[in-house]
Amino acid sequence: MKIAIYPGSFDPITNGHLDILERAVKLFDKVIITIAKNPSKAPMFTEEERRSLIEACVRKYTNVEVDSFDGLLVEYARTKRATSLVRGLRAISDFEYELQMALMNRKLDGNIETVFLMPNEKYTYLNSSIVREIARLGGDVSGFVPKPVLQALQRKRKRTS
Ligand code: ADP
Repeated sequence: MKIAIYPGSFDPITNGHLDILERAVKLFDKVIITIAKNPSKAPMFTEEERRSLIEACVRKYTNVEVDSFDGLLVEYARTKRATSLVRGLRAISDFEYELQMALMNRKLDGNIETVFLMPNEKYTYLNSSIVREIARLGGDVSGFVPKPVLQALQRKRKRTS
């Protein structure tokens, strides 16, 4: 059984993340989409909110699990018996950081391979922080995020305005 981990902040999950997930589920028997608990970042959505938004978006897949982790990613992957890490590459600007992470993870565990997937080009400029910023300013993000996320962003905006 080929298991892959797709780690990220997913604050919130966007159509770009879902594009990568859609490609990954075709390559692996199981994909675990996992929220990195990063105490140094102040997220817009709590871990529980992010998790339930992801769950609402991945119900159609039978081979996707949602989880969260802290600590070393390769250690987490080992506990899940995963042999691959999935990451999305949008532009050359992603490459340097991603290469560094992939090589460092390989140093830490040579049995775990990082697999890079490219999204549809319409998502290459999309990231969660742009979505948060546009939504905060009242812009239309309906083309960038799935419906449950759109509704959650609208609720957040109402609460803070
Ligand atoms: P971001 O804030 O950049 O969306 P995440 O930590 O949530 O960051 O991203 C997790 C993974 O998903 C990373 O590998 C990132 O490159 C990838 N990713 C994020 N947005 C996209 C996108 N629009 N297209 C392809 N991959 C993406």
